[in-house]
Amino acid sequence: MELKDEARTCRYCTNLYIWSAGEQQYYNERVLNPPERCPECRAKKRQMRREEMVTLKEGKGEHYEANRISQDTK
Ligand SMILES: [Zn+2]
Repeated sequence: MELKDEARTCRYCTNLYIWSAGEQQYYNERVLNPPERCPECRAKKRQMRREEMVTLKEGKGEHYEANRISQDTK
């Protein structure tokens, strides 16, 4: 079956985008569902996830500083 560039509507921003034949092949080979988002929305999502991960990392950064109580009694 020959693949052709396909015009699709992004489910999120409703923009029309081209789902290229090359990309279709990529999806077919990996048995993935066709993308619902345009490349821009996908990039945005990736960016958001990256930011989430950074926040998560920062939130987890608990530093325990052992308070050493040294009593030097002379
Ligand atoms: Zn979009």
